Amino acid sequence: MLSAALAVVLVGYRRRYRAALRERMNTAELIENLHEGIYRSSLEGRQLAANRSLVRLNGYDSEAEMLASVDDIGKEWYVEPNRRAEFRDILQRRGKVEDFVSEIYRHKTRERIWITESARIVHDSGTGKPLYYEGSVHEITETVKRLQLEEQFQKLTSQLPGGLFQFKRASDGSYSVQYLSSGFQRIMGLAEDTRLLTTAEFSSFVIQEDKAAYFRSLVASRRTLTAWDHEFRARTPGGELKWLRLIAKPEQDGGAITWHGYLMDVSARKSQAVEIEKLAYYDSLTGLPNRRMLIDRIATALASAQKRGRAGALLFIDLDNFKNLNDSQGHHVGDRYLMQVAVRLRECAGEHGMVSRMGGDEFVIMLEDLADGLPGGSERALAVAEKTLSALRTTFVLGPVHHRGSASIGVVAFDGRESGPEEPIRRADIAMYEAKGGGRNGISLFDPASLEQESQRFRLLNDLRVAISGGQLTLHFQPQVDRDGRVCGAEALLRWRHPELGDIPPGVFIPLAEHCGLILEIGDFVLARGVAALAGWQRRPETAHLRLALNISVQSFANATFVPGLVGLVRKHGVDASCLTLEFAENVMARNHERTAASMAELKKLGIRFSLDDFGTGYSSLVHLKKLPFDELKIDGGFVADIETRESDRALVRTILAMATTLGLTAVAEHVEDDKQRIFLHLFGCEVFQGLLYSSALPEEEFIAFAIARNDPPGTEKAERRLQA
Ligand code: C2E
Ligand code: MG
Ligand code: MG
Repeated sequence: MLSAALAVVLVGYRRRYRAALRERMNTAELIENLHEGIYRSSLEGRQLAANRSLVRLNGYDSEAEMLASVDDIGKEWYVEPNRRAEFRDILQRRGKVEDFVSEIYRHKTRERIWITESARIVHDSGTGKPLYYEGSVHEITETVKRLQLEEQFQKLTSQLPGGLFQFKRASDGSYSVQYLSSGFQRIMGLAEDTRLLTTAEFSSFVIQEDKAAYFRSLVASRRTLTAWDHEFRARTPGGELKWLRLIAKPEQDGGAITWHGYLMDVSARKSQAVEIEKLAYYDSLTGLPNRRMLIDRIATALASAQKRGRAGALLFIDLDNFKNLNDSQGHHVGDRYLMQVAVRLRECAGEHGMVSRMGGDEFVIMLEDLADGLPGGSERALAVAEKTLSALRTTFVLGPVHHRGSASIGVVAFDGRESGPEEPIRRADIAMYEAKGGGRNGISLFDPASLEQESQRFRLLNDLRVAISGGQLTLHFQPQVDRDGRVCGAEALLRWRHPELGDIPPGVFIPLAEHCGLILEIGDFVLARGVAALAGWQRRPETAHLRLALNISVQSFANATFVPGLVGLVRKHGVDASCLTLEFAENVMARNHERTAASMAELKKLGIRFSLDDFGTGYSSLVHLKKLPFDELKIDGGFVADIETRESDRALVRTILAMATTLGLTAVAEHVEDDKQRIFLHLFGCEVFQGLLYSSALPEEEFIAFAIARNDPPGTEKAERRLQA
């Protein structure tokens, strides 16, 4: 009985044992086949068990291989060395860890992957002591990579200076916007949550004038499936006008096309381009078109004049005495004057005339469609020139300075038969010179005969080059006489004997040489010849006291080699430089007073004197005298000529002489031609006299003879006569 009962119990046990065993095996199999990696590890970090997923996750083929390879999970598994400590810390505190994301090494291959793991501590049911950890691991590398990519993309699109977009043309021809980055909204000044749904909404921002081209380029990209690259202007909803450029690549997908593209704000570049064009074609001070633009426009005007048989004209305007204003009142006043001149010229030129600035104080007005032929064109152009001249004569208020200006205007008509745009400009320029030559403040119509004069000037220039190297230039010496009538020195004056044309006065060739730079060579010649002559005089007792004045062009003086060159000559010849005077023409004094003063100071150390020539003709006489260390002034011959007949000139000369005394300057009168002039000058205190009354400029030998004869020692018959004179 008992054994039967026992047998029943045993059978019951065995059944339950088998059921339990089966269940355990089922569970183990289940765990083994789970997608999730499952493990058990010791508290110290040794791997105790792992299911197949985890074995594979770690790159192993069997659990045994893996368990044999892993020594310390903390050190070998995590990319971040202290990640295991953090994991254990959470476990200790909370008894479990959930969704703990870490980057780890696939144990066998050392490839870096991302996982998320959960774990718990398993305790002894009896003692409550922690026994081991149990947990699950899930690889999430793909997800992390995707998230990282998304984040990168997000960053990229928000950091890019432009905006990304995608839009699609469906096979039915309708367009829709697929994607716009935040950069796109930023460029267009759209609120962040604005979603453009159709491309029509975007196109509505394109300004009217640019719409046709915008759509044409889009259609071309669709038809040819080539990149859409287009620049246009758009007005943002906030009203701002922007230059935009979009570049998009079309991708065909069945009957639909998707454009993937990029939108940029190119306003800055565009406005720079506009600025550059402005610099290239406009004058920055007055904003008027410059010479380059004028030439372009004349070319067009010539073509249209010929086509329509209507004459046009150019007015070449040169402001008189601008340089003097600039020098005496400063450049800001000069600039102001030029700007106001520009305004007046625009008014005179009218709506259809174009005013341009050639540079400096030269302007050109181009008039078109004036009359049927050249004579009619000239007549109408002259009328505009008259109007312009009187506009420029009206007083200009330049801040505190009130300036009464004048101008010279050359006029030439054109009918399109000219050789090119340069020709009428040159003709108008020649006419302007004619106007200037005929006393300032005039108008001159181009005369073909003056072309001949112009070419003569050109020929003369070539001959001058030959003259300098060929020894055709000589220095003559015009005596200067003191109050007792004794020759005290000479002014050296250049003479050019042209082999065919005979004597050419320096008043003709010096300005020409100054204009084309030849003056530097001429200046070198004058210095070398002059200092050598002075050295010769100083070697003879009867001429040792004579002074010598040399005329110096400002261009020569401004040249860096001038001072050392002259110092070298003085040393070489061993001359007493206190007998040397340098004359500067008053109306061409340098602007840069500081540099001029420094060079003058340098030469003054040698004893060299400075004289201001033609005093009283220019604007800035007093400015120069005040700012620069002159020793002498030469009263302009023009005042001397009428000293006898004109009260005003007499008063002026007297004032100049008084001023010279006050300033401690020697006064020299030039162009003294008769005795009455001499007497007046003598009376007013003038110290040195020069002019035809005594002698014209003489070759050196003749001058020496003249000086010796005139300066005969006192007591001789000649000397007595001289004193009585
Ligand atoms: P400037 O320096 O004022 O020279 C005086 C001019 O007056 C000279 O003319 C001289 O011949 C002339 N002259 C002399 N006495 C009388 C007179 O009684 N009545 C009149 N009406 N004129 C008289 P020139 O020689 O024709 O020289 C003209 C200008 O050419 C000079 O004016 C000077 O500016 C320039 N020049 C002459 N030689 C040189 C030179 O070597 N270097 C430079 N840079 N310029 C020179
Ligand atoms: Mg002189
Ligand atoms: Mg003079």
